Amino acid sequence: MLYIGCHLSASKGFLAMGKQADAIGANTFQFFTRNPRGGAAKAIDETDVKAYLEFAKEHDFGKIVAHAPYTLNACGKEARVREFALETFKDDLMRMEYVPHNYYNFHPGSHVGQGAETGIELIADVLNQVLFPEMTTTVLLETMSGKGSEIGRSFEELRAIIDRVELKDKLGVCLDTCHISDGGYDIINQPEAVLEEFDRVIGIDRLKAIHLNDSMNPMGAHKDRHAKIGEGHIGFDALMKFIKMPQLEGLPINLETPNKIDGYQKEIEMIKNAHKQ
Ligand code: FE
Ligand code: FE
Ligand code: ZN
Repeated sequence: MLYIGCHLSASKGFLAMGKQADAIGANTFQFFTRNPRGGAAKAIDETDVKAYLEFAKEHDFGKIVAHAPYTLNACGKEARVREFALETFKDDLMRMEYVPHNYYNFHPGSHVGQGAETGIELIADVLNQVLFPEMTTTVLLETMSGKGSEIGRSFEELRAIIDRVELKDKLGVCLDTCHISDGGYDIINQPEAVLEEFDRVIGIDRLKAIHLNDSMNPMGAHKDRHAKIGEGHIGFDALMKFIKMPQLEGLPINLETPNKIDGYQKEIEMIKNAHKQ
């Protein structure tokens, strides 16, 4: 089963996102839990959530992916930055339980000169404070491009975080194709080897979701600039080959390409057609 979708605006609630996804041929989607710059989240509307859950069931939706604000930095240098990450995380995870058994994806963070080792410790520290045994959500660490002092530029860094977390069964990984290409993984010529390495370092069972993006920059550029599917350095064929790998079967795949809704609709159609062949 192919679960394909894209990033949608959450401003009108869950049912609106479900309907919009369905209207563009998607059967999953991603959304920000709150304004990406941070700030208060809208109160959960239980009627809306209930209506969405019914809609998703009727339309055979896959798991959906909530994305933490990208300004959240669990390994910031200042205590108040880490405190904000902690509070946002806690609040988001509590809210996620209204749509149980889905994913909450976040950027591990930037160590801002403190060094990767310290960054990894600080991120694990936050995770150990926010994960709780009863939660049904799986928290996903996103693979990063390695721009600036980003943690998560290699599979090893993600593994090092996971190793330090107590409730490991609450953790997974979201693989972003633009980011890993920028990070130096050759998904164009050696997709099999990349997934083998993922399995060897992290364990393929941790792979829970995909961000499908082309990259404006060549492999290893550490830039993180997404391109439309087929208009970047990875290319359409390589991306289609990648999502057909058996290890990706059944995972929610979300586009984060520079598109408006009609552009996403076109890409989803292209991808569905290519996936059938
Ligand atoms: Fe992201
Ligand atoms: Fe991403
Ligand atoms: Zn990105």
